[in-house]
Amino acid sequence: MNKKVAIVTGGSSGLGFATAQQLIADGMTVIITGRDGEKLQGAKQSLGDHCVAKQIDTSDFDALPGFIEDIVSNYGSIDVLVNNAGINMKKPVADVSNEDFQKILDVNLTGVFALSREVIKVMSTQETKGVIINISSMAAQYGLPYVIAYSASKTAIDGMTRALAVELGPVGIRVNAVAPGFIHTPMTAKALDSDPARKAKVMGRTPMGKMGEPQDIADAISFLVSDRAKFIHGVVLAVDGGNSIGF
Ligand code: NAD
Repeated sequence: MNKKVAIVTGGSSGLGFATAQQLIADGMTVIITGRDGEKLQGAKQSLGDHCVAKQIDTSDFDALPGFIEDIVSNYGSIDVLVNNAGINMKKPVADVSNEDFQKILDVNLTGVFALSREVIKVMSTQETKGVIINISSMAAQYGLPYVIAYSASKTAIDGMTRALAVELGPVGIRVNAVAPGFIHTPMTAKALDSDPARKAKVMGRTPMGKMGEPQDIADAISFLVSDRAKFIHGVVLAVDGGNSIGF
């Protein structure tokens, strides 16, 4: 009873999975979303009874209002939204088609906007309001080659986080972003394992000299959504071993 309800998009792997696991440990009911039903069910099995798996593509914009209505009617409230689902594409800019570019923006940006809008409508009417966390990236902190659409999407996420924060602060909804550095997940394995020079460059500018673990991001999110962070609003928190300020 009275458990907080959190949505973690893309919660069946990587940072989303670790975050879902942590928020469940913090006492919440966590709804994880993803596109792959089998992968979702596997994650739900590991996460246990306080996890609910919903197969939904966050770039299927028309499906999002019904998804949110369904959660509210089944669980009563939405207290936390973690906009974590994201995709990347590594190609020289000249090889990126308009369709490629749009596909990344649909998931990483428009999907985040469309889902947040529906959740904000719910949170605004709740007495306890709520907290939104957007997942940004180092690609929004400095120039990274070969990820043009990803960089554009994540830089827009930082802007959207600030715009939402100023609009929703007076309503009582807190909004922040977390910018992960280079963290061990399937996404970074794909981007770095086949490109040792890029990996060496990443490590060369990370003062802590290592990649992070998904739990590092989960811990930051756990703090930011808690009342211990009740006056933190509109920030993009780098969790990156110093990568964003590295030389
Ligand atoms: P990941 O590929 O392991 O996980 C991404 C998850 O999002 C997957 O479960 C995937 O199924 C889901 N997803 C993708 N498109 C979706 C869609 N349209 N609808 C629903 N779910 C969808 O990657 P990750 O490394 O855990 O990345 C999570 C987030 O963190 C992403 O937004 C990514 O851009 C960001 N990020 C990761 C790193 C890193 O080092 N791993 C660094 C910076 C930012």
